[in-house]
Order: sequence, then C-alpha cells, then structure tokens
Amino acid sequence: MKTASANRRRFLKGATLGAVGAAAASSFPAPAIAQGKIRWKMVTSWPKNFPGLGTGAQRIADAITEMSDGRLTVKLYAARELVPAFEVFDAVREGNAEMSHDAAYYWVAKSKLTPFFCTVPGGLTMQEHNAWIYYGGGQELWDELYAGFGLRAFLAGGSGVQMGGWFQKEINSLDDFKGVKMRIPGLGAEVVNRLGGTAVNLPGGEIMPALQSGVIDATEWVGPWNDLAFGFYKIAKFYYGPGFHEPSSALECLINLAAWEALPKDLQAIVRHACTAENARMPAEFTAANGESQTVLVNEHGVDIRHFPDDVIKEMYRLAAEVVAETSAEGDLGKRIYQSWSNFRREAVARGPYAEQGYMNNRAL
Ligand code: CA
Repeated sequence: MKTASANRRRFLKGATLGAVGAAAASSFPAPAIAQGKIRWKMVTSWPKNFPGLGTGAQRIADAITEMSDGRLTVKLYAARELVPAFEVFDAVREGNAEMSHDAAYYWVAKSKLTPFFCTVPGGLTMQEHNAWIYYGGGQELWDELYAGFGLRAFLAGGSGVQMGGWFQKEINSLDDFKGVKMRIPGLGAEVVNRLGGTAVNLPGGEIMPALQSGVIDATEWVGPWNDLAFGFYKIAKFYYGPGFHEPSSALECLINLAAWEALPKDLQAIVRHACTAENARMPAEFTAANGESQTVLVNEHGVDIRHFPDDVIKEMYRLAAEVVAETSAEGDLGKRIYQSWSNFRREAVARGPYAEQGYMNNRAL
C-alpha cells in the first residue's frame, strides 16, 4: 500500500499525466487519419489539466481515440483555448466543436431545467442521480430537453457531494449570510440570494482573482482536492461543509446531435462507453484525493473546517425546496422533469436511513 505522501505526489502529478495524454492524442500520425477518419473537438469548462475535471475530460478524449483505433480522434481544448468556459454549450450547439465536457447547471440561463441533469440544491446524491438517469427515466427526459437545442448528453464523471464553501467570516446565524457576495452556480445561487446574499457565477479559473480583489468575499468550488489546487485557504480561513447545493455534481459530455447521428453505431457505442467509464472513475479519484487533501488543508494550512449551524441548514433546505419546485412552472417538460425527479427523490429519502446514510451514521457512533 502506498503511503499518504506517495499518493499526494501522484495526485499533484495528475496534471502532468494529463499533459502526456494530450501529447499522445495530438501526435497521432496525420496521414493515417486523413481518409475516412473522423476528428472531433472537445471544448471544456475547465482550466488545462485541472485535477479530476480537466484530467477526466482528457481521459474520455483519449479513451475514444484509443478504443476506436484512431477512427474517431478527439482533441481536447481547455477553457479559453477555443472558447471561454461558459460558451461551450453554444460552441457545441452551433457545431464549432462536436462535443464538450462541462456541468449542465452552467446552462441555467438557457433553461432552468438543465440543473436537474447536474445537481440541484437539496437533491439526489451522486449514486441516486446515476440511478435516476440510467434507470429512473432521467436520460430520456434529458434527451428530450437537449433535442430542443440540437444536443445530446451523457453522464461523464462528477465530484460527489461538494463543500459548502469558503468564508472570510464565521457563519453563526442566518444574519451572517446577509450581504455576502458569493460565487455559486446553478439553482443554489437563488437560495443564496434568498438568504440575503448576492450570488455570482464565475468559471473556476476566475474565482481566485475575484476573491483576492474583493469582488466576492465567499466562494464554493468543489471540495478539498480542487479547492486546495486553487489555494482559496490563502484568502478565506473558514471552510464549511457539506454544502446543501451540490449533492451529486454530475458532469456531462455534450454532443452536437447532428455529429452524433452521423457517427456509425460502433463509434456511438465507444463514445457512450467512454463517458460511462469516466462516470465511474472520476468519483473514485475525487474520493481518494479529497481525503488526503482535507488532511493537508487542516494540518499544513490551518484551515478551520466547520458545519453550518442547524437553523441555517434547515433554512437552506427549505429555500432549496422552494426554488427547485418553481422549475415545474417551466412548461409541460418542466412539470414532467420535476415530477419524475421528485418521485425518485421521495423514494431515495425513504431508503436513505437503511442504505449508505444509515450505515455512515452507524459507523460514526
Ligand atoms: Ca461547485
């Protein structure tokens, strides 16, 4: 078994491994793919080789290229290499890239229903979300929503439950949220607004400068591994968790529908299975790296990790239920998505005390 420090080195070197993968993909001999071979561009919402998110996207691109023996080569572009982080949806919709790796809740301005296919406040855990998408009718509803945009999407990784965020002052009561300028995406943003704060959404790469300049005074991003990489602990010492707002944080590979339909069946299967493989692998990487990163944050950087007070948590969940329920007003599809999701959630909540939730509570006794 590897030591913690060996593991740490492995995770810190993740970016280097990703770069090697990128080099391998781009050095594929050009003459061999000139005839009858397909080249796709994958744009992403992540900084280049960012741990887990960027490196996971690279694994998908490499897996498709490798499994198809170069018949379909996928070249990855980090945020701003081809388009900015929050423009990948339009890039794929308009066919400037064939696919992207991103988080569906970034597209809430396109449709308030997109967060259901990433994560919503007070919603499903990652395992429950996977179950809803794969076996609870979620994928069919997702396909219907995105067909309206000329898109198709597959689950493609995720972080699992995220931290509540970094704050420069303690959160001891609901009053402490008043006036807080916080970076938070998706429907959780509206909950922060209703708590009396001001929510701002920024791509990952722009959070640290905004914290440093005082444009925001609090932020969530992902969890110990990814948050350590950005160095938020240098600005904000109070780290609250778990968050109410991102219990699954599923990522997606968005695909241009016309490009998808033009693929032969075997290449479609390769793309689908490359996404499914990463959907299993990325959470494992997050789980492994978050544990040791939390230790580093506490022991080496003196970060104060806390729970939000109970009355604050209760109000967060009350407002979350209100905000999420309002999406059912988004036409017939909104009603059907909300209904399917809330039926699934009701059963998951009933099951919880006898499944992982119950086990983990028992384990902590
Ligand atoms: Ca987040």
